[in-house]
This record gives sequence, structure tokens and C-alpha cells, in this order.
Amino acid sequence: MESNEEIRRLVNAIALKNASEHSGSTNVNTVLSRILSLKPELKNELKTLIEEIRIIVDSVNKLDLEQQKKYINEIYSVNINIDSKSRHENIDSHTLPELQLTGTEVVTRFPPEPNGYPHIGHAKAVVIDEEYARMYNGKLILRFDDTNPMNEKLEYYEVIKSDLEWLGVKPDIIKNTSDDILMLHEYGKNLTRNGDAYICTCGIDNIHKFRMEQIECPCRRNIDNSESNLERLDKIFGGAYHQNEAIIRFKGNMQDKNTVMRDPTLFRIIEVPHPLLGDKIQLWPTYDFAAPVEDSLDGVSHALRTKEYELRNFLYQSILDKLHLRKPIVVEFSRLEFDNMPVSKRKIKQLLEDGLISGWDDPRLLTLSAMRRRGFDPKAIRKFVLSLGLTLAETKPPFKALESMNRKIIDPHAIRLFFVKDPIKLIVDDGKNIKVTLSNHPTNDLGKREVEVSTVFYISRDDAMLLAEEEEVRLMELYNIKIKNIDLENKRVITASYFNNDIVREMKKIQWVSDKSVTKYSILVPKDLYLNDKFNPNSLEIVEGYAESSVLQLKSRIPIQFIRFGFCISEEKKSAIFIHR
Ligand SMILES: [Zn+2]
Repeated sequence: MESNEEIRRLVNAIALKNASEHSGSTNVNTVLSRILSLKPELKNELKTLIEEIRIIVDSVNKLDLEQQKKYINEIYSVNINIDSKSRHENIDSHTLPELQLTGTEVVTRFPPEPNGYPHIGHAKAVVIDEEYARMYNGKLILRFDDTNPMNEKLEYYEVIKSDLEWLGVKPDIIKNTSDDILMLHEYGKNLTRNGDAYICTCGIDNIHKFRMEQIECPCRRNIDNSESNLERLDKIFGGAYHQNEAIIRFKGNMQDKNTVMRDPTLFRIIEVPHPLLGDKIQLWPTYDFAAPVEDSLDGVSHALRTKEYELRNFLYQSILDKLHLRKPIVVEFSRLEFDNMPVSKRKIKQLLEDGLISGWDDPRLLTLSAMRRRGFDPKAIRKFVLSLGLTLAETKPPFKALESMNRKIIDPHAIRLFFVKDPIKLIVDDGKNIKVTLSNHPTNDLGKREVEVSTVFYISRDDAMLLAEEEEVRLMELYNIKIKNIDLENKRVITASYFNNDIVREMKKIQWVSDKSVTKYSILVPKDLYLNDKFNPNSLEIVEGYAESSVLQLKSRIPIQFIRFGFCISEEKKSAIFIHR
């Protein structure tokens, strides 16, 4: 059964399509009959369905035809096929909408700044970039956007490369924006000489004030005639100014409603050594300047950017116009975010400084390093981000969707073992000393293990609390027992006796660990890092318990399903990280 959310999406898609084919308006009946023909089972919930349709139809009819068409394009990008009865759940790379082609080779680029560890949002961008490059037999460029040495480190270049490799991304070209710094300087000089940019020495506070008041500064109008703009140009390139004393600004429009266009900064002085170029360069272009010039000169045909850059797109195009450079097509998509799981570098760096997380690979984070450590398979991440497609909607996808894709991938090779949390002793007084052979997987051949049992077992406290005297319960894959006595307070022991070995469907089945093959074991359970926008002090639970001693023979980084507990990945001999249920 599909979730309500999926039904709503489908209704929305049908309504939009019908409206766009009928001069912008649709009605409840048409949409209802369409959806029932696709999903007859919904007849059972007609009342709620009609209510949903009514709400959606109303909101669709309020849009104009242009907007309706725009939304339809987005919907197709997430692959709701409203024309075909056989809608496949299996969303893969072919869900991306076609690109508008220009006759040149399709070239995409992924331009991370080497100022931190890449996270799942980066994965979305780079995977889409790569899929497009492959779809059209084009090229993917990995370009380190390294023009702010204040935050950049060699370590980050390396980790970005290795994390992308883990993700299975294979760039055709790897380069750095800083490789082209002298050329970028030339373009900056040209722009200034042509009167499309100027050197401003007003200082941060005044620049901010003038922007707010929509006033042009004296530098732009060259009112201060003690030195000309071109003299200042020589000075700024000659190293005569220090940090914050002068910047190069684009001549935009100080009255523009889009504040980005109010004479944005193109170059600024940063007196910090660059990780690759050292002290050689101190005048650095901003992303606003470097990105369009680099994209154009690198032959990028389609520049994919997240929607947060929307306001900057006009500037991107204006700079290329003024420089008479070829303009790539800008394609937007929405940034990937999850509730209570921040990915912002600022927040992560703060948590690190405050000692609240253990590193960039802390399992509570969504950096790729953390997700790798936590046992996510890169194929699941790829599949997940592609399933989101190019949608522009600012919805946050459920993290559970990613977990479920990961579960499908790791389940076939995750070894089944028993673990009991917060163990309680269980004595089966007439139990025999025997050896039982258990399968490591219910369907796949992952081997077997031999477990020695006697009269003493451990079960988890959660299960123990729910037992009642005289109750019959099955020790999984062993036999049924009858509970005799429960003492959870004083001796913390439950006594029972052997009952029989019939498999009874309704009987409670619990996992156990035998006293003869037991080891202490701890599992790190990551939870939401934030609660109500604040750090959650309980975001990392350490669950202590007993596991079967055969767990000690596993290498590290092996996926395990602890039955009735969840999927984990072994980390050290006696510990694992919880992945998901
Ligand atoms: Zn100024």
C-alpha cells in the first residue's frame, strides 16, 4: 500500500496535467476518475480521497498556466508516470529530466570548496552531475573551488577526492580554480578597465550601509579624485593594500531589488597562505566571479546549482555578458536537507570545537565519511539522491527512505546473530547441555555456527519485563519454555522449564545468548543530532549487552543483523555501530 504522501503526489500530478491541457483549470470529478483508473484499490477510501482531491484541485486552479507547466516538469523529474498504468517503484538513473541541448558536448562540473568534509548534499549534486555526463556521453569536471584560503586545507582536497571515489564517482577531469588564478586576474583587470568594475576602499561597515541605503559609494562615482580607478587597479594588483582595505566590485545597480546586484564583491585580499599556492597570491576572486568565468572557459555546457543560488544567477549571467564569454545553461535543483541533521560546515565545526562530536566521521553526522563508517552502502546513497531527481520543491525527504534502500542492499549479506540488551539471567532448570547449529542467514548461504547451550541463558530486559509467570515462550531457533518465576528486582533472574518444541505461530519468540558462548558487547546508536534546533545531548546512546561469542571472530566493517534489534556494522572486536532497524 502506498503512503498518503505518494497518493497526494499522484493526485497533484494528475490535476496539474489535466489543468495544463484545459486552459489552466481542472475539476474534482476528472481527477477522481483518473486516479481510480490507476489505483482502483482507493475506492475503499473514497471519502478521504475526494477531500484530498478537492484541496489539491483548488490549489492547482489558483496557479497560472505557466506555473502549472513548470511544476509538471518538476514532477516528471521525480518520475511519477501518470500516463502509464504500470508505474514502477524502481527509480533509477533514468529519472532525470532531459537537458536542453545546445549542440555542444554535455559537460557538467562539481565545484566543492575544500573547506570541510563532503556530506550527503554534495553527494546529491555530484551524482546528478555525473549521471548527466554519462547520459549524454559527456564529461564531468571535479573542480576544487579554492579561492578562499581562510578556510581551505589540503586535507579537505584529499578527503573530497577519496569520498567521491567511495561513492563511485569518476570525474573525467580534476582541476582547481586556483590553477587559473592569473587568468582570473586578467579577466578582473579587463572588467575594471572597461568600466564594469571598480576598486572600493570604503571599508566593510560603509559598504554594508550603502548597500542597505541603496546609495552608490564615492569610489564608484570616482568623486574622490585624488586617485583614479585605474591607479587603484595598479595598486590592488601591486599589493599596495592590505586585507579589508580595498575590494574590486562589480558595477551592478545599487537600487536593484535583488541585493546581490548591489555592486557585489569580485575580488578581495586574503593575507593567509593558500594550501596550494602559499603566499604567492593574496588577491582572490569570490565564488560569484570565479564560478561563471571558470564554467565558461572549462567548456561547461550545463551548470547545475542548488536553488539557494537563485538570486545569484542574474549576476552569473551579467558577468559573462560583460566579459563577452559563452554562457552555460544554469539548471537548478533543491538542496538536500533532513530534519535535525545539520550538514552546515559552520555548525559541524562548532560542534567539533565544543567537543560535542568525535570528528567529521562521527556516526551522527551526514558527512560521507560518517555515513561510510556507519555502514551505509554507497549504492544506496546514489539510488536515494537520484530518486529525488531535480525537484525544486523545498520538501525534506524522510531519512527512512534512505534507510530502506540501504536495508535492501545490505540485508542479503548481513550475518544474523543474537544480542541481548541489558541482560537478565534466565535459568531453564531442566535444560540440557547440547550443541545447536544455527544458520547465519534465513535464506542465503552465509554459513552456520555452532552454539553450546546449558541451563543458563540471557535475555534482554525489555523482553523480560513483558513475561508473565506460566507463560509459554519460544527461545528462537531452540525450544519452547514455560516461565516459572520472575524476579527482576532482587536476584534479577527468571526461572523456567523446558516445555516442548512445537512451532506455534502465536507464541512469543525471543532471542537469547547462552552462558556457554557469551561476550560483553556494546553498540553505538546514533540519534538525531539536533532537537528543536539545539544540540541533543542524548544523540549518541551506548547500548550495553551480551552477544554470542562468535561475533568475536568477525572482521571489522562486517554488516550484522542483530535479530530483533537492528542492522549494525562491526567496528572493533566488541563493538558495533547501529545502522538502522
Ligand atoms: Zn567605495
